[in-house]
Amino acid sequence: MSGEPEFRSGFVAILGRPNVGKSTLLNALVGQKIAITSPVAQTTRNRLRGILTLPQGQIILVDTPGIHKPHHRLGEILVKNAQTLVRAVDLVLFLVDGSQPAGGGDQFIAEWLARQKTPVLLGLNKQDVVPAEQAEAITASYQALLPTAPLLRFSALTGQGLAELPSQLLPWLPPGPCYYPPEMVTDQPERFIMAELIREQILHLTREEVPHAVAVVVDRVEETPQITRIFATIVVERPSQKAIIIGHQGQMLKTIGTQARQEMQKLVSGPVYLELFVKVEPKWRQTPHLLRDLGYRLES
Ligand code: GDP
Ligand code: MG
Repeated sequence: MSGEPEFRSGFVAILGRPNVGKSTLLNALVGQKIAITSPVAQTTRNRLRGILTLPQGQIILVDTPGIHKPHHRLGEILVKNAQTLVRAVDLVLFLVDGSQPAGGGDQFIAEWLARQKTPVLLGLNKQDVVPAEQAEAITASYQALLPTAPLLRFSALTGQGLAELPSQLLPWLPPGPCYYPPEMVTDQPERFIMAELIREQILHLTREEVPHAVAVVVDRVEETPQITRIFATIVVERPSQKAIIIGHQGQMLKTIGTQARQEMQKLVSGPVYLELFVKVEPKWRQTPHLLRDLGYRLES
């Protein structure tokens, strides 16, 4: 008999409140920016897979929108999708902001997770900013929520503690095949990531009112040996939001475009020409066929 350990593979859902660092962690683990991040809550809308291939196995990480109370139809889809997901994965990495004690939102998710059959690991992120005198009390507050869950500490931002993470996740996955080619880091088409890079700049550059009312669609990508041309539409709900996105003398749209283009150039490793359009589509978030057209799926 050979002493080779069996190749393991499977799915790990990264679950947690908005803003705890789920997308940052996904990017850090796959070593490339596939998920957008921002200080604004509820950034991630669609489910995004990050693929991590190691000599001993393949870990498919699933970034999820945070579980939160639905306020409108988009919110309901986000919650329902997260709940469906947990039943389908091999392991949940319950990610929390380890720089602060557990709050009500963490408790809500923990109680819900405790009722599921899927095993859960507790990931305490943001270890780079933990006040030393509070470290013990913070850890205890999370462990109290899920007393039997193994606890991991790391910083998705600085990379501290991340090197060990894959080998801590792998034993929880069953023996299985290499589902994706080893060089693949995400299952999402490049177009989706391009649209997300534009949405990311809008989240960073505009104020409270606009971000959640925005969707971005990449209409066309033209690739030549010299340059990649990208044509995209930013969809908002109200003319007032369109005015904000465009800005005084088009200045805001120009900044969004310039910064998104810089990120896209890293993605395609070459020069990018980006043209942006802005369109008002009243109530797109409450309208099922518009949600579908814009790429938001209710998954079953
Ligand atoms: P998500 O909503 O859970 O996906 O959170 P994001 O990944 O978008 O991150 C939310 C914010 O937390 C961003 O401003 C990140 O830069 C920040 N963040 C994520 N991980 C860390 C970390 O380990 N340390 C610190 N200091 N900030 C982090
Ligand atoms: Mg996110």
